[in-house]
Amino acid sequence: MFEHIQAAPADPILGLNDAFRNDLNPNKINLGVGVYKDEQGATPILKSVKQAEERLLNQELTKSYLSIEGAPAYRQAVQKLLFGEEHNIITKQLAQTAHTPGGTGALRVAAEFIKKHLPEATMWVSNPTWANHQAVFQSVGLEVGSYAYYDANTKGLDFEALLASLSQVPAGDVVLFHGCCHNPTGIDPTPEQWYQLAKLCSKQGFLPLFDFAYQGFGEGIEEDAKGLRTFLEHVPEMLIANSFSKNFGLYNERVGALTIVCETAEQTDAAFTQVKRCIRTNYSNPPSHGSAIVAEILNSKELRSLWEMELKSMRSRIHEMRSLFVNTLRTKGVTQDFSFISKQRGMFSFSGLTPDQVAQLRKDFGIYIVGSGRINVAGMTHENMEPLCDAVAAILKN
Ligand code: PMP
Repeated sequence: MFEHIQAAPADPILGLNDAFRNDLNPNKINLGVGVYKDEQGATPILKSVKQAEERLLNQELTKSYLSIEGAPAYRQAVQKLLFGEEHNIITKQLAQTAHTPGGTGALRVAAEFIKKHLPEATMWVSNPTWANHQAVFQSVGLEVGSYAYYDANTKGLDFEALLASLSQVPAGDVVLFHGCCHNPTGIDPTPEQWYQLAKLCSKQGFLPLFDFAYQGFGEGIEEDAKGLRTFLEHVPEMLIANSFSKNFGLYNERVGALTIVCETAEQTDAAFTQVKRCIRTNYSNPPSHGSAIVAEILNSKELRSLWEMELKSMRSRIHEMRSLFVNTLRTKGVTQDFSFISKQRGMFSFSGLTPDQVAQLRKDFGIYIVGSGRINVAGMTHENMEPLCDAVAAILKN
């Protein structure tokens, strides 16, 4: 039965981790997969998370199923984080949130919901985008198109081309936006550009789907929600797929959420019953532990302020590594302008390195970068900065 099955190609990002693990080079550096690392190169458990877990261990009374949409305390906490405490979306009950296994789970449920209820819709994703986006939407049979985003010459946002692309998207299609810390480029629209995009969305009548995987990694918890909240001033409907993998460091607990916003509470409630159907036939109901941690932290004054401090220190370390990388390359005699890297936000930068240069870094120096030239800045440390910049300088001379 299975003899005809061909092996699937390695995942372009997760496959890189396997190759890194098998590399015997003692000086190898992993700037591939999108996981935050501290100054020691570790992905630590946050103190706020450990303390929340201690509390939960004592409080937990049952391992019985959660409901399809997850725990109420978690769902409410998610909405406050997305919209802000007193937002009218919350007070008017225009949003419903389901806990999903990670941001990927949220995207997959959204994809199934869109395919079922807007079967003619095309999904539009930025060029470039996170490597998994296209595959997730195609896996439910949706058509996926791409809109202009990155300008390879300026290493910035090609806003004119972006507007021109989205002006072609018809009413009824769905456009995916990265809420902040665009993956892989690290380039986000400015507040004024978000405003223009929101106006365009309202004029064209397409549905925005916000993928919000890095809240707090760019400028701050509130600042990073600016784009999404600007849209909500202009459009009545939205889907939001958010993730707590990065900002709580809860990668393997699979904590995310899908939130749906409609024009009236009645519409939201009706649509949400269909979201729940997609979940029921997929994984039935979510895993509990990670969401209990997030709810415990966000609903405790003390744990929340500890978490905010820890989040700020992750954010600051990434900012610092960006500047240090740019400056160290300069001291190594690199004449190309890499200053754009210190302007980008979040964990990733599009380095502009070619696939050949990426391959050479891996072969000659044990430095792992995604083939597109995407660098995980969070993989840089004070210790590996010198050898990293020596290697980049060496390959740029060739
Ligand atoms: N969207 C984007 C843009 C991401 O970068 C990621 C994680 N790399 C996800 C979604 C998925 O997050 P999760 O690990 O929570 O599934």
